[in-house]
Amino acid sequence: MIRYGAVEAGGTKMVLTVCGEDLKPLEKAVLPTEEPGRTLPAMIDFFRDKGISALGIGSFGPLQLNPAAPDYGSITSTPKLAWRSVPILKAMTDALNVPGEIDTDVNAAALAEFELGAAKGLRSCLYVTVGTGIGGGVVCEGQLVHGLLHPEFGHMLLRPDPADPMPDGVCPYHKGCLEGLASGPAMEKRWGESAKTLPENHDGWRIEAEYLAQMCANAVCCLSPEKIILGGGVMHRTSLFARVRERTGALLGGYIQNERILNGMEDYIVPPALGDLAGATGAALLARRALKA
Ligand code: ZN
Repeated sequence: MIRYGAVEAGGTKMVLTVCGEDLKPLEKAVLPTEEPGRTLPAMIDFFRDKGISALGIGSFGPLQLNPAAPDYGSITSTPKLAWRSVPILKAMTDALNVPGEIDTDVNAAALAEFELGAAKGLRSCLYVTVGTGIGGGVVCEGQLVHGLLHPEFGHMLLRPDPADPMPDGVCPYHKGCLEGLASGPAMEKRWGESAKTLPENHDGWRIEAEYLAQMCANAVCCLSPEKIILGGGVMHRTSLFARVRERTGALLGGYIQNERILNGMEDYIVPPALGDLAGATGAALLARRALKA
């Protein structure tokens, strides 16, 4: 029986899942992300006796995803300094003696939604997570987009809202980028209150929708995805979807003459169909690809 090991590697926790051949989770463990010298061996130990045939990793980044590069599968310039240059894929697949594939956490989730979720049957989609950080994964013509490095949706530059009291945002690298303006920590810093408890009628939600809509409008113009899937903790505030759709339509100004855009986008800007399973399912799909290769 085939089993896949799936790793969701995050800055605060590592979610490890054993999936069956049908990609459904069988067993799961969550470890805190500590020093790699401590966390990596614990991750390997979890999978050691699980009989997995391949490993898939959806990881925080940035990552080296060029298979020809000597450091393929390594985490590169992350602000989590202890994890910089850590060859997470090679360390795990060597120790477990299985094939493996790695991609960004958001590319893994995009792949899952593309194969099995909200974008099933289409040729392209964009998956964006809006939480502690913001990242976007892209499937184009059935392929995950890598290119030079991989897309970094969280750091696209936006136009500040005139009523934003913190128009530079909180990103240490850029003024006014999406993650710096619209991540959960950005909202909390701006309003002195967590997005979880910020009242529904607070202007912060209008500003949040404005920034997410700017991103969606940019994505429509740059990538022309057939579906935009918005996940992550901040999107648990489900009233954001209607606000983002309406504002995206306004920003596009009727220029994109496609009925998916012009009909209110209820079926175009959507939550993940796989919900919180998108990450683990995506990593299991990467494992399946590694096994087939
Ligand atoms: Zn930035």
